[in-house]
Amino acid sequence: MKKLIALLLAGVMTMSLLTACGGNDGAKADETVTDAAGAENEADSADAAGAESEANDADAAGTEDAADAESGADAEAGEVSEALADGVLTVGTNAEFPPFEYVDDNGEPDGFDVALIKAIGEKLGVEVEVENMEFESLVAAIGSKIDVAIAGMTVTDERKESVDFSDAYYDAVQYVIVPEGSDIASAADLAGKAIGVQLGTTGDFIATDDVEGSEVSRYNKAVDAVNDLINGRVDCVIIDKNPALVFESTFEGQVKAIPGEQFEFGVEEYAIAVPKGDAAMLSQVNKALEEIKADGTFDELVKQYIEN
Ligand code: GLN
Repeated sequence: MKKLIALLLAGVMTMSLLTACGGNDGAKADETVTDAAGAENEADSADAAGAESEANDADAAGTEDAADAESGADAEAGEVSEALADGVLTVGTNAEFPPFEYVDDNGEPDGFDVALIKAIGEKLGVEVEVENMEFESLVAAIGSKIDVAIAGMTVTDERKESVDFSDAYYDAVQYVIVPEGSDIASAADLAGKAIGVQLGTTGDFIATDDVEGSEVSRYNKAVDAVNDLINGRVDCVIIDKNPALVFESTFEGQVKAIPGEQFEFGVEEYAIAVPKGDAAMLSQVNKALEEIKADGTFDELVKQYIEN
């Protein structure tokens, strides 16, 4: 990202550092999904159901071969992404999504994703700088403000129009958080409800596009949605499984988290978003991810951050 420093440091590299970073056309996609009235056309390709068909043939364990074949098409073996020529991988996240990302006691972003991307940086021999930003802004910032994003981000067809995704590293599903004593228990019960979501997330897409008559409140911080649930401003919150379980235990006795299967929500997959067309970056990230899985680091991180 820091081109001047890169010019000094990367004398041996032959690629042009002045080539502009990837396109920045993600903003439009983000706009459409947050506009309840205008979202419908786009939504079909980006909702959880749409992502499912992709998901089925790409489970966390089995994607490597397919994705390698795909990304390997343009990347020469060992090629280094231009974005890494400065020795820094600038990573965007939204540290409001425990246990994948949160702000620790020292005010620093931490969590499974943060640890995973640092391990990837180590494999790639680059420094990792984490930028904490709004989830909504991540996709549009890739290739300009940030090199890649890791944020419990679900692979969707709509996002794929703006960015490329690494191999999937985690399976997820949306959960429904309700106040203790709520009678919401099935998809039909959601109709007409006031639903809290994190802005621009797959939970937002489901609440906006798939729930009839819903009244959707969108928050930048998931915890604010849960606070409004406790205050009675919304009837439920739709959010990914692991954060839902964290909030259930944080607000024990006040809320409960109901599995999305009960609402017929489909499987989602988390992956790292990289600049569209940066085949070198994609294959570098996938290779590092593969090594991290093979050497046991990945399982260690799952134990430390998720199963703990
Ligand atoms: N997995 C959801 C999505 O990609 C939510 C991610 C998040 O809130 N960090 O939209």
